[in-house]
Amino acid sequence: MLLAFQLLSGSFSNHLFTDTQRFVIASSSQFLRVAVPTPLRRVFDYLPVVGVDAPVAGTRIRVPFGRRQVIGILLGFAESSSWPEKQLKPALEYLDSEPLFSAELFQALLWASDYYQHPVGDTFATALPKLIRTGSPIEPPAKIRYRALPPEQGLASQLARAPRQLELLENLTHSGPLTMAEIREAGFDRALLKQLEDKGLTEAILADRSEEKPGPDVTVAASSVRPNAEQISALAAITHELGFQCSLLDGVTGSGKTEVYMQAIAKVLEAGKQCLLLVPEIGLTPQNLRRFEQRFNCPVVAMHSAMTDRERLLAWRAARSGWAPIVIGTRSAVFLPLANPGIIIIDEEHDASFKQQEGLRYSARDFAVKRAQLENIPVVLGSATPSFESLNNALAGKFQHLKLSQRAGPASAPKISLIDMASEPVKEGISEALSVKIDKHLQQGNQVLLFINRRGYAPVLQCNSCGWHCECRHCNASMTVHASPPSLRCHHCEARTNIPSHCPNCQSDKISTMGAGTQKLEQFLDKQYRPVPVFRIDRDSTRGREAFAQLTDKINQGEPSVLLGTQMLAKGHHFPNVTLVAILDADIGLFSPDFRGQEQMIQTIVQVAGRAGRANKMGEVVIQTRYAKHPGLNSLITQSYEQCAKSLLQERQLSHMPPFTHLCLLRIESSVAQQGVRFARQCFETAFHLQQQEQQIELIGPLPAPMERKAGRFRFQLHIKSASRPRLQRFLQALVVTIEGGRTPSQVRWSLDVDAQDLL
Ligand code: ADP
Ligand code: ZN
Ligand code: ZN
Repeated sequence: MLLAFQLLSGSFSNHLFTDTQRFVIASSSQFLRVAVPTPLRRVFDYLPVVGVDAPVAGTRIRVPFGRRQVIGILLGFAESSSWPEKQLKPALEYLDSEPLFSAELFQALLWASDYYQHPVGDTFATALPKLIRTGSPIEPPAKIRYRALPPEQGLASQLARAPRQLELLENLTHSGPLTMAEIREAGFDRALLKQLEDKGLTEAILADRSEEKPGPDVTVAASSVRPNAEQISALAAITHELGFQCSLLDGVTGSGKTEVYMQAIAKVLEAGKQCLLLVPEIGLTPQNLRRFEQRFNCPVVAMHSAMTDRERLLAWRAARSGWAPIVIGTRSAVFLPLANPGIIIIDEEHDASFKQQEGLRYSARDFAVKRAQLENIPVVLGSATPSFESLNNALAGKFQHLKLSQRAGPASAPKISLIDMASEPVKEGISEALSVKIDKHLQQGNQVLLFINRRGYAPVLQCNSCGWHCECRHCNASMTVHASPPSLRCHHCEARTNIPSHCPNCQSDKISTMGAGTQKLEQFLDKQYRPVPVFRIDRDSTRGREAFAQLTDKINQGEPSVLLGTQMLAKGHHFPNVTLVAILDADIGLFSPDFRGQEQMIQTIVQVAGRAGRANKMGEVVIQTRYAKHPGLNSLITQSYEQCAKSLLQERQLSHMPPFTHLCLLRIESSVAQQGVRFARQCFETAFHLQQQEQQIELIGPLPAPMERKAGRFRFQLHIKSASRPRLQRFLQALVVTIEGGRTPSQVRWSLDVDAQDLL
């Protein structure tokens, strides 16, 4: 069946929206231009629904699509279609009388589709909760409610013998209109209500949302801390009255960034506007939400991946209607519509979880900045270890650079030192020198935090006779040994197998583990320091939201203990009794194949170090390494994060890497290696051809990915770089159209990753 569509060359957002800020209303003769949820990079034209008033752009529309019916988003109207009118089909239904989004958010989403070269229909689908995508109403449906009528003379005598009726009437007078379900909940029944209705004392009404629970009255609890001079000047610089402005709140751990967010939020709430706070995947803990609820005495609406579809729908509505004054969420919350946007804040803006790694590969941080610009509101990016992109923008004067250089309150910055593992006796990855320090801190009644970014029991299982080691059958990676249940697991795909008792290569029984992960260390530390408890914090020990909260509660009882964990420990948690922090193996990050490897390593070390001495105790940080002369590690000891970052930024500039050039990856995957190689070559040739027509585009490839095989798929890449964003955009647009117009073998998948976070 032939489908009506129009392939738009160039960027359609420019065609439709740059000349008009507000939504366009159609005249009857026009064609509807619809974003349909499909992987096709096209907009589809439809005829209007017969006999119905024309809809508004930004609303949902049900349309026939092939043999199916789908719900798309009406983008706008066109006077003409490149398809003969006879072939166009009428739309089936308009679902909304008002747009889902503000004109500004709508524009921001069109921008994202353009910028990330992602199909517009799928961009909208990514931005909407599932139940809105599938047709749930924007607003909760109106409900029948019962309300008390103004009391007449003689009420007392009328109900003198009916105390239960009087009680219900008083209840309704007091609470306002209630639904039948709420009346039952309060302990009354329908018969009782009927008697009141018969007497003309109550009536049924159809109440729309405005009569539902009113929005909360926000009362801001007075802050218990007096902002210091740096906090005061940061707050003065974040002024929502001035409209759009992007600030980098660059504050060392414990410097009171959260306090700045809260006071900025208070100002915005007082102006009657909403605040959107984005936090990393791992930072959205119940404690964090409670901290905001208590301060602002209002419900804080959360939005994150662990919520049910229904909960997400409610959060979306609460944000959109303006009912929720504060919304806190992870990456996808950046798409929530806000009736009254006042400020967007991104905490830990350097965190990798803000970049989506599939589908619409957007950066929530970059989208937030664009959105804030369109909404004309301030955006604040906060971090103790700003991403090189943001730091560079701040240094170049594109962002306001707000610094908090001192720890707030009594805590002072910890002392950092290196331990050279090459010249020390080492037992299970713990050097003699570190062992002495651990003893000392525990004896003083303090807590010790040991960081190792390697979960599982051991990273390698090997044969001591022939040297065989266990690799995943689907990936170019070693299988990790896990202790409970005993198994071999691949951390890059779902593969799991039993631990063999004999070497599959030479049948020797001399097989053993090499290296140590958190589980092996936990066993060792437990023996070593018993009865001091050892708390292991990694993805395996904290499955489920509650598990993590329970662990942190136990730790915060403050008894001397050893905390052992991965990346999860590095993120924003407050452990006031930790006085010693040790990075057990800094070398894991030292030789990463990725261009961001060093950036991530220093961020992790600084973040982990920030967990030491957070309260009024002096902290100490040690870093174990076999490369004690490594300049990068040494500069971390003598210099600030910013100084280290600046020298790494110089290297990036010399090697033409982001943020000094824009980097885009064309990723190609195939379950059949040959098909993948051939397709990657074709793509390169296409790109090479297009490169002749566009200046300042650098092409590298086709290359095998650093992990060439993952989950059974062979992976290839094309790197596309340019110092000019407009040129890169034009180039990518042409490339995508050409590749999409050609044939893609059935086993091959390709995707474009604009501003790729890593090359892995
Ligand atoms: P960050 O978010 O930068 O890591 P927080 O905002 O969590 O830091 O602050 C760290 C600690 O310092 C908190 O216990 C906070 O209450 C306290 N604090 C923040 N600002 C001040 C201040 N001006 N005076 C005293 N204590 C402060
Ligand atoms: Zn062997
Ligand atoms: Zn695998």
